[in-house]
Amino acid sequence: MKGWLYVLIAFYILYQGGQSVMARNASLPPYTILTKTLAKPPGSSKILPDPSLILQQIYQDSPKQLNAIPTGSKPISSTHRQLFQIRFRNIPLHNAYLVVQSSMDGRSWKCTFPQLDVTNIPVTEEKNDISVSESCLVFDEGQWVLCLKKAVFNSPDNTEAWLEFWDESGNLRFQEDWMLRFDEGPDSLIRGCVFRPDPVSRLRLPYGGLLRDRHDSASSVLNSALDTVLIRARYDDDTFRLESPYFRFSEFSTPVRKRAVSVSPDSFLLNRSQPEFEEVNIFYHLTCFRRYLDTVGFASLANYPLPIDAHGMDGADQSAFSPLQNRLAYGDGNVDDGEDAAVIVHEYGHVLSHASLGFGNSGDERRAIEEAICDYLAGSYTRSCSDYEWQNLFKWDGHNEFWAGRTLTSPKIYPDNMVGQMHKDGEIFSSALMTMELAMSRKLVHKLVLGTLPFLIPDLSMPLAAQAFLETDSVLSGGIHTPLLVQIFNSKGIHPGQVIVRNPVVQNTIRGWEIRGNDGVSKEWELVQYGEKPASVTISDQNGKLLKSFSTTGSELTVPISKQAFLPGIYLLRIRMENEIRTFKLVVFPS
Ligand SMILES: [Zn+2]
Repeated sequence: MKGWLYVLIAFYILYQGGQSVMARNASLPPYTILTKTLAKPPGSSKILPDPSLILQQIYQDSPKQLNAIPTGSKPISSTHRQLFQIRFRNIPLHNAYLVVQSSMDGRSWKCTFPQLDVTNIPVTEEKNDISVSESCLVFDEGQWVLCLKKAVFNSPDNTEAWLEFWDESGNLRFQEDWMLRFDEGPDSLIRGCVFRPDPVSRLRLPYGGLLRDRHDSASSVLNSALDTVLIRARYDDDTFRLESPYFRFSEFSTPVRKRAVSVSPDSFLLNRSQPEFEEVNIFYHLTCFRRYLDTVGFASLANYPLPIDAHGMDGADQSAFSPLQNRLAYGDGNVDDGEDAAVIVHEYGHVLSHASLGFGNSGDERRAIEEAICDYLAGSYTRSCSDYEWQNLFKWDGHNEFWAGRTLTSPKIYPDNMVGQMHKDGEIFSSALMTMELAMSRKLVHKLVLGTLPFLIPDLSMPLAAQAFLETDSVLSGGIHTPLLVQIFNSKGIHPGQVIVRNPVVQNTIRGWEIRGNDGVSKEWELVQYGEKPASVTISDQNGKLLKSFSTTGSELTVPISKQAFLPGIYLLRIRMENEIRTFKLVVFPS
C-alpha cells in the first residue's frame, strides 16, 4: 500500500442509481423588450413608482385591466430600480416584467417592458386570490392561453428542474427548462440561444451536407439546432454580464472579439456567426455542468471565479487551461471550440484536476489518465443532453474534415496499444470509466472520479490510478463495487494489483487520532486525540484554502468542530506534530 492512500478515511453514502432526466425543450413567449423614458406621473411618490399608472401609459390600457405587483428587486446603489410582475385581470402574464429605474435627478423614469398586445388577451375571470400563482397567461403559438404552471423535478437526483404549462383542456402546451434555481427572483435572467450539446447531437444527423462548419456561418439548418434557454446572469449598472461565482469572462488571449454584455436581457438570442454566441454557449454549459457537480457533493471544488476567454489561443483550433495563470481559453480554429459542449466541459475537467492537486499532471501515463478523465466528464455531460452517437466524443468539433475526434468505447488494451500519445492512450482509461457509468450510474462514477482526483499524483501509471479508484470506492461505498471495478479495469488490461477492501470503521482512526461524526447525520465532527504531543490542526478545502485552524495541547481530549459553516463537499483536516503530518478527509453531504 502506498502511504498517500492512507489519507482517505471512510464514510458511507446512500446513493441512488439511474441517469439524470434529459433536458427538456424550452418554448418561451417571444416578447420583444422595449424601453421608454417617462416623465414622472403626478401624484406618485419619489422612490416608489405607481406601476398601474406606468402600464396605462405604455400600453394605452384604458379599461385598466393590467396591474403589476412588486417582486424581488432592491434599489441598487444610488439609482432606484424596481421590478414588477405584470398581470392581466390579476393573472400573471408569464415572463412579463416591468423594470422601472428613476433618473439620477429623480425627474424621469426609464421603463423596460415587453411588447404586449393587450387587446388580444382573452377576457378571463378576474382572480382575486393572489395565491393562485400557478395560473398564468402564456403567449403560445400565436395566441394567449390560460395555463396552469407545474414545477417538476427528477427525484431523487434533483439534477433537473423544469416547469410544465397545462392548458384548460388538459394539454401540455410546453415545458420550460430551468437549469438554475427557479425560486429566486427573475431580475437577472436572460434568454440565450445555445447548442445543446452540439448541432449534430441536437439534430440527430451525421456531420456533412448542410450540417457542416462552413467558416462559422449561420444557416437555417444550424439555426434549427439552437435551443432557447433561460440563464441567470449578473445584473448591475443596468448591464447583464455572463458571470457567476464560478465563471468570469474576460479578454486575455487574442483575438479580441465582441463580448456578450448588454443592457437588454434579450440580446443573447444569437446565432453561431455572432462572436458573442460562444460566450453564451460556454457559460450555459459550464453552469449546467457545475450545478451537477454541486449536486454530487463537490460544491467546494474549484469554487472561485475562473477567468475565461471565449475566443483565445490566437485563433488556433485548440483550447487550453493554463495552470500557471489559472485561466481558460477556447480557440476559434475550424469549428469554434466554444460551440461544442464536449470541448467546453473537457477543458473544465483540467481545471478541476488542477484544483484537486496542483501541478499533478506530469508523466506520460499521468497525462493520459487526466485526458481520459476530462474526456469521460465531457462525454458523460453531452450524453446527459442527447444520447445520439454518445460513444463519439466531439461530434461537432471533430469527427469531420478537420480531425477525427475520439471515442468512449475504444477496444484498445493496456499496455499493448499504448502509443505514447496522451489523447490516444487516454481512450483506454476513458472507455473504462464510461463502461462504469453504463454499469453503475453517472452520479456514482462522478463521485468516484472527483473523489480520486486529489490522489492522482505525478508520474502515476494506469494500474496505480485504478488502485486509487478502488480505494476511493472503499471509502465511498465500503468497497461494494470492487469486483465490478476490477472486472472493468481488467477488461482493459489495467490490473490494479492489490485489492484491499477497507473496513470503514478503521479508516476514522489514524495512529493516536480519531475523527467521529463524519457522516450525513451528525451536526459536528469530533476530533479525538489520544497521544501526548501538542499539535496544530488545519482544515482546508480541496483548493488548499484554509478555513479553520487551532492547536491542541496533547493528552486525551476531544475537540468538537461544527459543520455549520461548511458547504457540501470534501475537506482535508491536517494534523501537524513535531515531525509528522496526519490527514483526515472530512465530508459534508448535501442535505
Ligand atoms: Zn485535455
